[in-house]
Amino acid sequence: MASLDVEKIRKDFPILKTTMNGKPLVYLDSAATSQKPRQVINAVAKHYKKTNANIHRGIYKLAEDATEQYIKTKELTAKFIGAESYRSIVYLRSTTEAINAVARAWGDANVERGDHILITEMEHHSNIVPWQLLAKRRGATLDYVKLEGSKFIDMDDYRAKLQSRPKMVAFTHVSNVLGTINDVEEMTRMAHEVDSTVLVDAAQSVPHMPVNVKDMHAEFVAFSSHKMLGPSGVGVLYGREEVLEEMPPFHAGGDMIRSVDFQESTWNELPWKFEAGTQNIEGAIGFGAAIKYLKKLGMENVREHEKTLTKYALEKLAGSGVKAFGPGVEEIEKKAGVIAFSMPGAHAHDIAQVFDNEGIAVRSGHHCAMPLVTKVLMQPAVPRMSFYIYNNEEEVDKAVAAISKVREVLKIKN
Ligand code: PMP
Repeated sequence: MASLDVEKIRKDFPILKTTMNGKPLVYLDSAATSQKPRQVINAVAKHYKKTNANIHRGIYKLAEDATEQYIKTKELTAKFIGAESYRSIVYLRSTTEAINAVARAWGDANVERGDHILITEMEHHSNIVPWQLLAKRRGATLDYVKLEGSKFIDMDDYRAKLQSRPKMVAFTHVSNVLGTINDVEEMTRMAHEVDSTVLVDAAQSVPHMPVNVKDMHAEFVAFSSHKMLGPSGVGVLYGREEVLEEMPPFHAGGDMIRSVDFQESTWNELPWKFEAGTQNIEGAIGFGAAIKYLKKLGMENVREHEKTLTKYALEKLAGSGVKAFGPGVEEIEKKAGVIAFSMPGAHAHDIAQVFDNEGIAVRSGHHCAMPLVTKVLMQPAVPRMSFYIYNNEEEVDKAVAAISKVREVLKIKN
C-alpha cells in the first residue's frame, strides 16, 4: 500500500498546477526549498487579515492573540522533534543563522587557542564556514572526517580524529548532495565519550523523516522551515536547556532582556533570551501550519514514500547510463530522497537547462558543498534531483526521459 496519497497531497499545492516553459511543472528541487500547501499560505494570510500585531508587547487582545499563536508554534515544534519544552526552541532566520549563532556565542565562550573543532567532508557551507571563522578567531584547528567510498562517513577516521578531544563536533544528519543518512546517535555517543559538544545540521532530515532530539542526545540541532513546507525566514535552533542557559546571547536588543540599566543588562528567560527584536511572526505561524500538515501525514509515511520513490529513480537512472552519487539501491536505508548525478560528455548546467526546457526544475552546481563536490566527487558541478511528499513516479519517468533528451540535444553517443 502506498504510504502517502500523493494525488490528494498534490491538490493542496497551487504551484503544481502551473507550467514552466509551457510544460506542467515538475518540481525536483525540494532540497533547495520545498513548495507550500494552501494550508500554510492560508495561515499566513489569515494572520495578516485577522491577528496581526507585535508579540510580547501589547496588552490588548490582538497582541495577546498573536503572542499566544506564536508560542503555540513553538510548542508544536518542540513536540515535532521530541524536545521536552519550547524553552529549547529558538527561532532564527535559517539553519545557517542557527549554526552561526552557536559558532559565535557558544564557540567564543568555549573554544580556546590550541583546541580542535571537528566536522566532516560532506558538510554544507553553512556547517563549514562558521567553524572556519571561529577557528581563526580563537586560534583553534579545524579538522575534517574523511569519507569512505565517497558515500559514508569513515567511522575509523572519525574515531581517530576524536582523539584530539575536539571541543565541538558538528556534522550533517543527511547530506544535501549524496543523500547519505548518517548515524547521528552513534556519532554523538562517540563524541560524548571524549566530552565534545555536538551540533547536528538537520536541515535535510527533519523535513523528511522522524527525528527525535532526545534520542540524538546532541546539544544543538538546526533546521529550516522553508525546507519543510513552511515560509522562508524561520530557522530553528534547538539547544539542550542547560546548554542554552549557559550560552551568552548573540543578538542584543528589545525583548531578549529582563532589565536594562545605563551600563548593564540582565537576560530574559529561555528561549526569549536569544530572540532580539521583532520576530518573523507570520513566518512562525506559517511554520506551525506546515508542522501540522506533516504531522497529519506522519513522518514515517513521508520517509517511506521518499524511500520508495528514490529506489524507483535509482533503478531507472541506472538503466539510463548516468552515474548517481551517494548510497545506491542496495543501501537505500541510508539514502534520503536526494540524487546528484553525472553524465559523461554533459556539463551539469547543460543538463539542468535541457530539464528546464522540459518543465523539470533541478538544481545544478556545487550545492553549497564545494569541498565535497570538487575535492571528493571531483566534479566541477553536478545536477541534483530531490524529492518530497508531492512527487510521484510519473515525474521520475519524465526526468529519465529528459536524460535521453540531453543526449539528443548534446549529440552524446551511448
Ligand atoms: N545544511 C544543509 C545540509 C542544507 O542542505 C542547507 C540548505 N541547502 C543548509 C544547511 C542551509 O539551510 P538554510 O539555507 O535554510 O540556512
